Amino acid sequence: MPETQETFELLKNYVNELPIGLLLFGKNMEILSWNNQAINMLEIHEENIKKNDFGTLKKQLMELIQDETINERELIGLSKPYKASKKVASDNNVIVVLTESFQETIGEMSHELRRPLTNIKTLAESLHMGAKNDPDIAGKFIEQINNEADRLTRLVNALLNMSKIRSGKLAPAKQKINLKSKINDAIKLLQSHADKRKTKLINEVTDDYKIYADAEQIDHVIQNLVENAIKYSPDGSTVTISSGPASGSFQVSDTGIGIPLTEVSKIFERFYRVDRTKAKGSSGLGLSIVKNVIDLHGGKIEVNSEVGKGTTFIVSLPNEG
Ligand code: ADP
Repeated sequence: MPETQETFELLKNYVNELPIGLLLFGKNMEILSWNNQAINMLEIHEENIKKNDFGTLKKQLMELIQDETINERELIGLSKPYKASKKVASDNNVIVVLTESFQETIGEMSHELRRPLTNIKTLAESLHMGAKNDPDIAGKFIEQINNEADRLTRLVNALLNMSKIRSGKLAPAKQKINLKSKINDAIKLLQSHADKRKTKLINEVTDDYKIYADAEQIDHVIQNLVENAIKYSPDGSTVTISSGPASGSFQVSDTGIGIPLTEVSKIFERFYRVDRTKAKGSSGLGLSIVKNVIDLHGGKIEVNSEVGKGTTFIVSLPNEG
């Protein structure tokens, strides 16, 4: 028996009392040991764990264990958000620790919501103290209050979307979807926004191209990617949505500012923005929701980007069955 497993089993009584979930994996991703709390958190039967069958969580756990660049990730598809972190033992077995990440989320949320609130309060106080007597300054402050209120609305909407996606009714209701018409719907919604930026939106998807996805959730993904493409491109740019490269996949390409290579892996994290001062009108939540949805579909999202040239997001979804 590998050394770590032996220790784990020896301490099993104690390990079972811990408020955190523990899973021990062997070198080939086979499960060796676990504690009771892990079973509760993962909402699966012990029988399935014994068979190494983690259902939809399998891919997420594999990603965590096999990807050397990540040490922790959030597990989605469960009724509560859990954070899974890993520690590689000296005999190369991997211990995965599961903890509730709700506290962390609340902390981040409060921080993000407080910023626009503080700004609104400061601006309102300044108006009250006398700025209201200067029409130019008053006009500017009122416009800023309006912008901050818009930012708050965007944040709250994004959080609501996030909680909806996480709320247990997570399992995507997958069906065959005509991608071209979905893209046209998104274009219709975003056209006036694109017009203001003189940005062209091009739908290159062929008439009969089908993807297998949850209709509402995929709307959200497409809108987010196209909206970002418009937002992070200079006026007069072009955003192209096309199918491929593999069946069931599609791409959103822009000719915008691009994303530095060092930032690419971080953009899917909650509240992450490449340049916090430049990214006006952003919440930093859009792509984390997009990634959640795509993970739930068993798909993947990749990014090709060059600073100053543009960015392509490639979404690949499994085919039916
Ligand atoms: P938001 O756009 O609300 O800030 P997102 O989660 O959608 O949040 O995006 C996270 C960050 O990724 C953005 O702040 C931006 O810096 C970067 N980003 C996203 N899409 C693009 C894009 N098409 N081109 C350049 N940067 C992008």
